[in-house]
Amino acid sequence: MRNTNTRPATPGTPGHPDALWLVGGHVVDVVAGTVLRDRAVELHDGLIRTITDTAPADAEHTLELEGRFVFPGLVSVHTHLTIVYPFEETDVNENPGDSALRGASRARDALLAGVTTVRTLDEHNRADIMIRRAAQAGWLDAPRIVASGQAIGITGGHGRGRPGAFADGADAFLKAARSELEAGADHIKVFISGGIAHLGETFNGAQMTADEMAAVVRATSEQNTYVVAHAGGGAAIQEALKVGINAFEHGYDLDEETVDQMAAANSYLTPTLSVTSSPEWMRDHGFTEWQIDIALNVHPTHLESIQRAFTRAIGDDLDAGGIRIVAGTDYLPGEPHAGTSCAVREMEYLEQAGLPTRTTLRAGTWEAARLMGRQDQFGSVAEGLAADIVLTTDDPTETVSALRTIGTVIQAGRIVRTDIPTTSEGQAA
Ligand SMILES: [Zn+2]
Repeated sequence: MRNTNTRPATPGTPGHPDALWLVGGHVVDVVAGTVLRDRAVELHDGLIRTITDTAPADAEHTLELEGRFVFPGLVSVHTHLTIVYPFEETDVNENPGDSALRGASRARDALLAGVTTVRTLDEHNRADIMIRRAAQAGWLDAPRIVASGQAIGITGGHGRGRPGAFADGADAFLKAARSELEAGADHIKVFISGGIAHLGETFNGAQMTADEMAAVVRATSEQNTYVVAHAGGGAAIQEALKVGINAFEHGYDLDEETVDQMAAANSYLTPTLSVTSSPEWMRDHGFTEWQIDIALNVHPTHLESIQRAFTRAIGDDLDAGGIRIVAGTDYLPGEPHAGTSCAVREMEYLEQAGLPTRTTLRAGTWEAARLMGRQDQFGSVAEGLAADIVLTTDDPTETVSALRTIGTVIQAGRIVRTDIPTTSEGQAA
C-alpha cells in the first residue's frame, strides 16, 4: 500500500532487481567482536545477501568504501520521539497531529544519525504507531520503530503531567495494557517506581502493586511479548522480578542483592547514563537548575549501580547467564550531544563506565535486537539480515567513539546519506 509519493527504488532496495555492492570495506562482526578485512557486501532486496572477498567483475552498482568500516545500523532502545523539553511545556491535551509531526521530525534525525531502529517507550497520542505506519507507506523517512504506544503509570505517579495512560488496580492495568497492544504496541512500558523528573519524587519504593504488575505481564503474555519497566531502585525491581518483569530502565540505585537477582533472571538493563551525566545538554534544553541538581546528585549512585550491574553482565559468551546491557539514551537519539549524537554519546558513557568495548558495541546493536527477539532480522552485519548499515572511517572495535565518524547511513539497502561521492543509483563517481 505504497503511495505515489514514494521515491523510486534504487539498487539493493526492495522493488529493484539489481544488487548494490559495497566494496573495499572492513566488516565489523559485532557478534564475534572481530573485523573481517577487505570484504565485499552485496545488498539486495533490502537485505544483506552476500559477504565475500570481492564483488563480481560485472557488478553494475558499486560503492567504493576505501577502507571504511561496515557496521550495523544502531539500535536505540529507550526513545521518546514526542518528548517536549523542558517537560513543563508538555501539553496534556496536545492534538495527535502535532505529536506525530514532532515525532516524525525526531525520527528522521535519528535515522540520519545512523540509528536504524528505535524502541519507543512512551509516546504522546501513540505517535510512534502513526509514524511507523507512515514510514511503511513511504510517506516519510524513519528508523524501524518497535513501539510502546503510551506508557502506563499509576494516578499521580511518575509520568504525570504528560498525555499518557493511567490506571489503578489490576483490572485497570490489564485493560490499559490490552488497549495499547490492540492499538499496535509491540511491548508494554510501565513505571514501577518514581524517577528524577519531579521535585520531591523518590524512586526507591514501588509505584505499582504486585497485582498490577502481574496483570500487565498477563496482558503481554497473551500477545507473546513483554513488559519493560521504568525502574529507579532495587525494591521495585525485586518485586517486578517475582511476577516475571525482566527488562528494566535506568537502575539509579541497585544494590548487590538486586543485581544478583537480575543476573539470575538474565534481565535486560538499559542504564540511560546520559540522564544523570549531561548538565550542559540539560541546560541547553531548558531544564531548570533544580532539575539539573537532582540529576547530578543521583549521578554517583547511578554510576556505581550500573558498574555493579556490569560485574554481573554477560561478556563474549553470549549464551551465558547474567545481566544483558542494552543502550538507550532517554534523549532524542539523533540530537547533537557533545560533538556526536545522543545515541553514540550514551554508548561512550557505557564504555567510559567500564563496559568492554565489544560488549558496548553489542549493547547498541545485536543485544538490543535480541531484547526484542529480532536478532535474526537486524542488529548485525550478516547474510540474510536487513541491509541496515552505517559506515565509519575509524575502527569501532578500538573504541565506540569511532562511531563519531559515521559518514554513511544505509537503511534496507537504500543510501540515506553518504560522505562518499556518488552518481545516480548508488554508483561510485
Ligand atoms: Zn524515558
